[in-house]
Amino acid sequence: MTPLAPLLPASSRRLYSALHADGDMKLHLDQIDEAPKHLSYEEEVADLNARLDTGAHEYRFADPVHAELDYYRAGDDVVVEGDVHAAAVATCARCAEEFRLPVDVPIRAVLAPRPAAPEDDDVELSAEDMGLGFFDGDEIDVSDLVTEHTLLALPTRPLCSEGCRGLCARCGANLNTGPCRCAGDGVDSPFAVLRTRPRES
Ligand SMILES: [Zn+2]
Ligand SMILES: [Zn+2]
Repeated sequence: MTPLAPLLPASSRRLYSALHADGDMKLHLDQIDEAPKHLSYEEEVADLNARLDTGAHEYRFADPVHAELDYYRAGDDVVVEGDVHAAAVATCARCAEEFRLPVDVPIRAVLAPRPAAPEDDDVELSAEDMGLGFFDGDEIDVSDLVTEHTLLALPTRPLCSEGCRGLCARCGANLNTGPCRCAGDGVDSPFAVLRTRPRES
């Protein structure tokens, strides 16, 4: 690539692919050697948020995902490894308050050229279970890897804290901020209140 590149330690080299302009970070096979290269970039979160919008709306991302990756060739395969750092805005499953959830995900993907013949679905699945994947043509879709790993790192049930007390099932007050008016007033159900209160009409 640049004549200066070999003089710099791999970790200090930053490569912003020209292909990133369309919103997807892709590496061309021509850019990938057996000697690891470093890739540090910010992944935009529009795709991530679009994927999350189809779910339970428990998470969204306000800021770009930061990726620190090394990539190299191993025979016909391409290895992409490193870390992804992000912060999700999560909605607590118990108290419904939003909180900031740091997401730090290690990535290690071994990508093989996708076989030309139609692949048996089961074979493909087990390969992906083992952390192996495929790439198509002569491009590695790094954005895809980063997005997938970030999504998979999100807990299925976000909690603002392990000890979150949630909402009162009766009045809906957030019990993390203190006991609600239902607590200790000796009234067992809201219907009891209705029975003792004179009708207003
Ligand atoms: Zn909570
Ligand atoms: Zn209550």
